[in-house]
Amino acid sequence: MSDCLFCKIARGEIPCRKVYEDGEVVAFHDINPAAPVHFMLVPKLHLASLAEAEDDHVSLLGRMLVLAPKLAREQGLENGFRTVINTGKGGGQEVFHLHIHIIGGGNIPPMVRRG
Ligand code: 5GP
Ligand code: ZN
Repeated sequence: MSDCLFCKIARGEIPCRKVYEDGEVVAFHDINPAAPVHFMLVPKLHLASLAEAEDDHVSLLGRMLVLAPKLAREQGLENGFRTVINTGKGGGQEVFHLHIHIIGGGNIPPMVRRG
């Protein structure tokens, strides 16, 4: 996807504060962090959202979930962290390239406010 923001970041065409990179994924700090530590884990493969995931993507997505806590620990989140995947307009997604937010440090409020 030539004009997808996260494809451009993954290709190194737009700068980012990189946390991690390998052949399949890249992780970088969110430009507008919601907490003291807030980075995104992104597959290099363009997938618009989790709603586009197919059986072919099972091992890639599994790798990302196993990698997330390792990267979180490296970023100082030994006590835990929140993972968020916004999916589609109804899920509040703004950048239509699948990404896992990894958020932590400071005070993490309840995920959903009730009442
Ligand atoms: P979404 O709402 O799609 O789940 O999250 C998109 C995230 O991308 C937002 O948290 C936003 O701050 C972040 N973001 C948007 N543009 C850029 C950018 O150019 N660089 C970085 N590092 N993050 C971005
Ligand atoms: Zn993309």
